[in-house]
Amino acid sequence: MFRSTLATHLALSVTLCTGWVATVCAEEKAQLVQREDPYFKQAQEQLQQRLAQPKNTHRAKNVILVVGDGMGFSTVTAARIFEGQQRGVDGESNVLAWEAFPYLAAAKTYSANAQITDSAPSAVAMTTGVKTLNDLMGLDHTASLNNCEDQKTKTVTTLWEMAASLGMSTGAVTTATITHATPGATYAHIANRDWESDAKMPAEALAAGCSDIARQLVEMKYGNGLNVAMGGGRANFLPESATDPEYAAKKGNRKDGRDLTQAWLKRYGERGSYVWNQSQFDRIDPAKVDHLLALFEPSHMNFDHDRREDAAGEPSLAEMTGKAIDILARNPEGYLLLVEGGRIDHGSHNGNAYRTLTDTVALNEAVKTIIGKVDLNETLVVVTGDHSHTLTLAGYAKRGNPILGISIGVNGKPLLGSDGKPYTTISFANGPGGVIPLPERPALTMEQTSAPDFIQPALVPMKSETHGGEDLGIYAIGPWSHLFQGTVEENYTFHVMNYASRIGERLSNL
Ligand SMILES: [Zn+2]
Repeated sequence: MFRSTLATHLALSVTLCTGWVATVCAEEKAQLVQREDPYFKQAQEQLQQRLAQPKNTHRAKNVILVVGDGMGFSTVTAARIFEGQQRGVDGESNVLAWEAFPYLAAAKTYSANAQITDSAPSAVAMTTGVKTLNDLMGLDHTASLNNCEDQKTKTVTTLWEMAASLGMSTGAVTTATITHATPGATYAHIANRDWESDAKMPAEALAAGCSDIARQLVEMKYGNGLNVAMGGGRANFLPESATDPEYAAKKGNRKDGRDLTQAWLKRYGERGSYVWNQSQFDRIDPAKVDHLLALFEPSHMNFDHDRREDAAGEPSLAEMTGKAIDILARNPEGYLLLVEGGRIDHGSHNGNAYRTLTDTVALNEAVKTIIGKVDLNETLVVVTGDHSHTLTLAGYAKRGNPILGISIGVNGKPLLGSDGKPYTTISFANGPGGVIPLPERPALTMEQTSAPDFIQPALVPMKSETHGGEDLGIYAIGPWSHLFQGTVEENYTFHVMNYASRIGERLSNL
């Protein structure tokens, strides 16, 4: 078929033109008749933007690392569609804040001992430049789990510690506990990520002088320690004798009797502050506080969807990020800030894509706040995930179909499985949405699947849906962001942040 078409074409060429190699007939030249097509024009504009993109080789005075916990490519795609649809614009062609960044690399996130990582070694890769074992933070891959001796001797240094010792300001902001794997990897060195307070540690480790993550935050020894630490996890800072200020029925977790919120205030005197609710947070004047500890919940902060129902009030991730930058940016030496959308991960573990996506949208708002506040000539902004999830987008739903809906085909009719029942566009490979024994699938409706509490269908039944192992996007803008290109190991991110900021060089470490 192809051959005969080609032969006809050649014959035609010879007929119309003399000497078919030397002469090409004007009427035969392929014309780009689609130049006015909107998709064509959009891609042309993108090309022109890229051609005009100057490389920024200034030193990065400031670096902001933004991590969507569990934010794989499929979550970014679904969130992009969801965010657009929420605003009443086209979801598929919508652009999240970091998708407008000029540079992108793909990160391989496997840990030193696992094909699929957990958040601890993943964050360590980005904050220290090395891969380590699942569940370890701030220790190298030769350390072993729960080993207090290794906790003391097999530490690796974080970029935050290096920056603090240079006199730069440092901070971590999250919606999870501030002692959780991702924020903890900026300051903690711990033989088990669960050791968020001393209550979780074995007696031998405590007796051997190892301290828990919350205590390590307050006692961070480099420079003046963290300037900003905001998130959840209040119970890990309060003694078990203390009643939680927000929930009368809850107590602190600590068995050592320490009140680490008081230890923070004592360490920083009148330049330090501790807050635990929205109105206290609102009253913080960034010009007057050098060290802010903010703990808005005993455990994780609420999902963004549930935040407004919180009695004591909780700021959004964007509000926390804005206040953090206002405090950190006062330092003429620059700053290093981690911002984590910590609960994107939890939405997916719960098999509940609605909260995965609403928390990803909250992270998008935080990135918009960052871009609105910083000077990109001197601030490197990196947005990435730490691992994926099994969330998938499947089927052939028509353009504009609600991303949380059942799939409606381009002919306007529900797409059906071989059992004659509709299916959702988003599902998980495993998690709470799986059922034993293999059931008859429920006949889902658009109303059911779009509800905030809907659990997406899953193949393998599990109490908690798992992480996914595919590569992640690293989206970057600002000084040296063009070094993010190609497929890289996740720990490469540290090396670019360090190179761009010259932190290691200034410490004569590299
Ligand atoms: Zn997780």
